[in-house]
Amino acid sequence: MSNLVIFLGPPGAGKGTQAAKIAKEKNFAHISTGDMLREHVSSGTELGYTAKTLLDEGKLVPDSLVIEMLIERLNSEDCKNGAILDGFPRTLAQAESLDKISNQFKIAKVIVFDANHEELVKRILHRGETSGRSDDTEESVNVRLEVYEKDTAPLIEYYTKKNLVVKINAVGEVDNIYNLISGEF
Ligand code: ADP
Repeated sequence: MSNLVIFLGPPGAGKGTQAAKIAKEKNFAHISTGDMLREHVSSGTELGYTAKTLLDEGKLVPDSLVIEMLIERLNSEDCKNGAILDGFPRTLAQAESLDKISNQFKIAKVIVFDANHEELVKRILHRGETSGRSDDTEESVNVRLEVYEKDTAPLIEYYTKKNLVVKINAVGEVDNIYNLISGEF
């Protein structure tokens, strides 16, 4: 049985940055559904074609598509030692789909990244200057933050009830935040 650690938090909270560092350190796979979808867009697959407009507008890609993509990814050899899920689950249906494969994968912890609205907007717009991401725009950021509050934030309660949540303050030095998270592994 492999362990999963879920990184949950709003866009711009630093989940991707921290997940990449920790995954390397702990020999966990780093699974970013956002990165996977962007790869589908750039390689021109059917899924990428469906996802492109939704990504640009800051909306979610349909659950069924993301769930299938994620489950297939979890079956890869590099997930045997464990995986960090960065950007999944983002809806209740996605969370329930993970519970269904609990015979193979155990959710060890859910790390919730906490940051205030202004900080998030500032970071994403700053990142947009160099990221080349077509969704790092003011319009899309506002949609992404709304979608987070409506669809994803309720998962904090879902996992709190299962006693899995650890909240960390995601505003501060990258190295300090890294140390906080690293201590949870
Ligand atoms: P951020 O956390 O900064 O919004 P991500 O790279 O995690 O960036 O996600 C970018 C976009 O990819 C989302 O706005 C959404 O359109 C899509 N996406 C990523 N993960 C999921 C998911 N689990 N379910 C649905 N859509 C997703």
